[in-house]
Amino acid sequence: MTETEFETLIKTAPPNLSIVDGMTKARAVLSQHRRVAVSVSGGSDSDTILDLIETVKPDDCEIAYVFFDTGLEYAASKHQLEYLEMRYDIKIERRRAKKTVAVACREYGVPFISKDVSSYLSRLQTHKFDWRDSAEIATPEKYGACKSALDWYFDRRSASATGKAMFSIGRYNMLRDFVSANPPTFAVSDKCCYYAKKRVAYEFNREYKPDLIVTGMRRAEGGRRAGSIKTCFSQGKNSEPDNYRPIWYWTDADKAAYKDWRGLRYSDCYEVWGMKRTGCVGCPCNSAAERELEIVEQYEPQLVKAARNIFGASYEYRTAYTEFKQQNRK
Ligand code: SF4
Repeated sequence: MTETEFETLIKTAPPNLSIVDGMTKARAVLSQHRRVAVSVSGGSDSDTILDLIETVKPDDCEIAYVFFDTGLEYAASKHQLEYLEMRYDIKIERRRAKKTVAVACREYGVPFISKDVSSYLSRLQTHKFDWRDSAEIATPEKYGACKSALDWYFDRRSASATGKAMFSIGRYNMLRDFVSANPPTFAVSDKCCYYAKKRVAYEFNREYKPDLIVTGMRRAEGGRRAGSIKTCFSQGKNSEPDNYRPIWYWTDADKAAYKDWRGLRYSDCYEVWGMKRTGCVGCPCNSAAERELEIVEQYEPQLVKAARNIFGASYEYRTAYTEFKQQNRK
């Protein structure tokens, strides 16, 4: 798209500052980079950035679209990739997981509640932590090199500006009480994300050597990573690529306005089934996972069966945690 075409397009945009700013910034950022890697998931945020990029990209910008297949993807998401390829006349490269979610969960353990909770519980399990230990007894001398996990468990992490301890177990209502009364009887781990996503992305970037990586992250989505990111753009250090999140500041309403204007069609997960988000089917880090599986059962029952097989212990543990909170409500 030439500069004149871009200026003409911007005049037709809805009167929405996030959209106009987002498009203008995206154009400027893409203009300053030559090799851009864009992660595509088949989800609505990813559809939005793909359209944004295809709409505003300068003619001389080389873009590689890549989809990381975790082995637990909706067929509807995969169909969406084919639709996107046709709509924009692009190729989306599919990369398979180093270890699928099923394999990683079998080998290392299953996620529970969130990736940070899974990571800390997993470290404590590795060190054969006695969940009933008090803070005085559970010293690093007793358990070896897992001080940060012990600090997390005993709420000794430093407080943030809001006064709430950052990434400590205290962020989750009564979780330590629950875990100490009901120690997990299955292996907990966040390794599936590493083997199914992070490592594959790392290898893709090492081969493709982008100078810019674009993702559809939004601040409104929250989560552990969002908490450590401050703006839509981060400059790469030590010859690492820059990172750009074109819809970082967009709200759900901004996204909806953009969708209407651009005539986007999300995957059937959203348009037909009425889901609000996608990703790995039934990921236990999604608090609505079990409710979503009930919806998905009508459309992709085999996937639901697979998710229940892989994550069943985590779902049961979460249900027990919810009941524990209800029974012990103060
Ligand atoms: S999104 Fe959930 S299920 Fe998928 S790889 Fe990450 S932690 Fe595992």
